[in-house]
Amino acid sequence: MSTLDKLDNCIFCKIAQGLIPSRKVYEDDEIFAFDDIHPLAPVHFLIIPKMHLVSMAHVGPEHGALLGRILLLAPQLALAQGCRPYPEGGFRILTNTGAEGGQEVQHLHIHVMGGPRPWLKR
Ligand code: AMP
Ligand code: ZN
Repeated sequence: MSTLDKLDNCIFCKIAQGLIPSRKVYEDDEIFAFDDIHPLAPVHFLIIPKMHLVSMAHVGPEHGALLGRILLLAPQLALAQGCRPYPEGGFRILTNTGAEGGQEVQHLHIHVMGGPRPWLKR
């Protein structure tokens, strides 16, 4: 699959490229974050690598620094998006992987959810 194919077929590649609109939470050279279109919590955004990486079942040592940067961003962005600080507040980080893991979009993303309870369930 060429880079162009991925860009053509992958909704999150298109969001990272600005080809599909989103409410942007954060962007740098490697990473894009945006609100989930169907939020399950008062704060619910997704952090993705800009490169097309399918899932956590597809990562290797070469992705360690990128994954580290994504995880390190989560608490900073959670606070910036309105999550209260630990321990009263906090947030949930979730990565669905594969069909039985409940992954619907085949471009690696971490969900960051937080805010006052109760949250919606799905
Ligand atoms: P999953 O692959 O199960 O982790 O879920 C994919 C998530 O992406 C779901 O929570 C969707 O609501 C979200 N989603 C799908 N399309 C969009 C979109 N265009 N903009 C923002 N979020 C989206
Ligand atoms: Zn993609």
